[in-house]
Amino acid sequence: MYRLPDFRGAALLFFFCGYFFCGCLVPPRPMAGDPKQSAQTARAGDTIRARAASAEGANPLVPVRISALDGRDEVRVEHTQEGTQVFRRAGAGLVSTADGTAASVRLTPTSTGLGLAGNIYPGEILIEAHGALGLKVTNLVALEDYIGGVVPAELVLWSAAPAEIEAQAVASRTYALRTLAHRRALGKRAFLWDDTRDQVYRGRFSVGSSAAAQRVQARLAKAMADSSGKVLRHATGELFDVRFHATCGGHTAAPSEALPGESTLTGGATACEPCARIGAEERSWSMDDSRRRQVAWRWTASRRDLDALASSLDLGKHLLRLDVLDSDDHGRWRTVRLTGTRESRDISLARLRAELDPARLKSGHILRTWPAPGHALSGGLMFEGLGRGHGAGLCQVGSHELAHAGWSAAAILLHYLPAAQLSRSHLSAPTRLP
Ligand SMILES: [Zn+2]
Repeated sequence: MYRLPDFRGAALLFFFCGYFFCGCLVPPRPMAGDPKQSAQTARAGDTIRARAASAEGANPLVPVRISALDGRDEVRVEHTQEGTQVFRRAGAGLVSTADGTAASVRLTPTSTGLGLAGNIYPGEILIEAHGALGLKVTNLVALEDYIGGVVPAELVLWSAAPAEIEAQAVASRTYALRTLAHRRALGKRAFLWDDTRDQVYRGRFSVGSSAAAQRVQARLAKAMADSSGKVLRHATGELFDVRFHATCGGHTAAPSEALPGESTLTGGATACEPCARIGAEERSWSMDDSRRRQVAWRWTASRRDLDALASSLDLGKHLLRLDVLDSDDHGRWRTVRLTGTRESRDISLARLRAELDPARLKSGHILRTWPAPGHALSGGLMFEGLGRGHGAGLCQVGSHELAHAGWSAAAILLHYLPAAQLSRSHLSAPTRLP
């Protein structure tokens, strides 16, 4: 049998999580892999409060929404204590299984972990009905287990150096704690998405049993242990507004410009020698060859793409022209003016990327276009640029290269986030790095 309808338990759990992330409580020890303990906690609010008041709070629970299952009418969960179970949306907001109906269910993990959508998840799984919007599925995972799943999804672990893994773990841990606290403070239900809206997370990392795979697993485990609990803070003691991206193209972006409305950090544009070097090498090759492009890229927006952009921004049926109004000192576009058949509009580069598709218009560091800015657009528009992602904060390609050159995790983090201080524990006050 799956857990009985349990609104009280879920409500208390989320109340607890949000309360902790505001820094008001000390969290409980993780429940991953401990079904008995999990069941007790979910049933008894008193148990939650008692644990919350204890001093064993180095590893709080993180609610992570599983995007691949969001809105589905049916969710299949493997390795539950009853084997494989199927949950379906039924009528207005009820979850039904062969056993009956419920508003929500919480599944405790077996020693294997719960299987969903091809992944194995540590910790509990909460499935909730969301009316006509289908089901919501959330993994309630201990912080360190969560970070242990994020790092392999964000990095190429096979080629990663230990310092690179540690730096990513600290950045991801800080991001998770700060983001949850920030959302809670805004009155939102605190959870993280498991995709690039927050951080990529696919459950427990597993690469098989070969000797090479075991070495990778061991490297991750050691880096996680060496960086356990460490976070970045502002000098005031607040958790740092950590951002990271795939590759900056040679110079990182100021967070307030790359993420307008999302980040309040000022300054912060940092030279990145590895990306500048790799980008220059790649541009010296033919852009049409099939060699893997790490930093340099080229993409042509079709006439259909441009007209869809014009329509989306209510500029008229066709896009006629693009002008660059403002760039930073390193060539990264800030603001563009788009002119359609009906009217013109000025938008940020971040908005332009979001409208056109950030996976194709890979960064704001655009070296040239054809036709050039300011010229009439009759067909498509070719962009050639450097970097991938918003460009703010920690550069992952730069981190990879610097770690292999012998830099420590702390040195890498402070290079890209110079205003941050490394705290030895996310529960303690910040300390200056040596
Ligand atoms: Zn870089």
